[in-house]
Amino acid sequence: MRTLGQAVADARSRLAEAGFPDSAIEARLLVGGLLGLTSTEVFTGTDRPVSAAEDERISKAVERRLKREPVHRILGSREFHGLELLLSKETLEPRPDTEVLVEAVLPQLRQIVATKGAARVLDIGTGTGAIVLALLAQCPEAQGIGSDISDDALATAKRNAERLGLAERFSAINSRWFDKISGRFDIIVSNPPYIRSDVIPELEPEVRDYDPMAALDGGPDGLEAYRAIAAQAADFLEKDGVIGVEIGYDQKDTVSAIFCSAGFTLAQARRDYGDNDRVLVF
Ligand code: GLN
Repeated sequence: MRTLGQAVADARSRLAEAGFPDSAIEARLLVGGLLGLTSTEVFTGTDRPVSAAEDERISKAVERRLKREPVHRILGSREFHGLELLLSKETLEPRPDTEVLVEAVLPQLRQIVATKGAARVLDIGTGTGAIVLALLAQCPEAQGIGSDISDDALATAKRNAERLGLAERFSAINSRWFDKISGRFDIIVSNPPYIRSDVIPELEPEVRDYDPMAALDGGPDGLEAYRAIAAQAADFLEKDGVIGVEIGYDQKDTVSAIFCSAGFTLAQARRDYGDNDRVLVF
């Protein structure tokens, strides 16, 4: 029987030999995640015995990682804005940079709740539900809808809402853009597909081969989703409502122009943790 310390060291050396630069962190994340241990337990529990069955699961997970599957996809969940979210095949893996969108609209959401006592949020292309569920978690008076064209994603978002105790305030709707949406919203948010189709082959394999293409591919100029959203958003926003979108690092001017020519005004532009333009609020 092996120990936890040996299992982590072995996973680390397999990843390091294959050239993975973060082999130590990834080995601890993988082994800890598979065995249900906190990171502290992984550091302090090196003598914990690891059964043959556990060893086998660790080895299979390392093999998946060697094929460039992201660590959190292998584990099946990841943290976003303090929430643990399940992932599935047709959900984009939530990125820390998207937390900037949550932070950008949260003050507005709180202000609307303070004046009206309630608020409605729509998240277009919700995937795991990350953005809308993070907003609902922060604002108990808010109700939210997550829309998506993937039933697999919608089922995942619903499960996430249930696990987080937010199911009563959340509904999942299958809709392309606004097609099946009715009513008006105080806040509309979206992290739509925004990568230019011709750039997709150059993405790192973790993204290109494992994130769903429908969540990445923004068409020939990467801007198709914004045009579709901007064309209709005014019909679904309350008078003082705001719409917040995630954008690619080089899309601030082009996306602003799309929304401004649809009659919106830019209220906020924010940068991500890597200091790239990432979020616009209109
Ligand atoms: N931020 C993602 C990436 O480049 C893209 C997600 C998107 O197109 N919305 O990895």
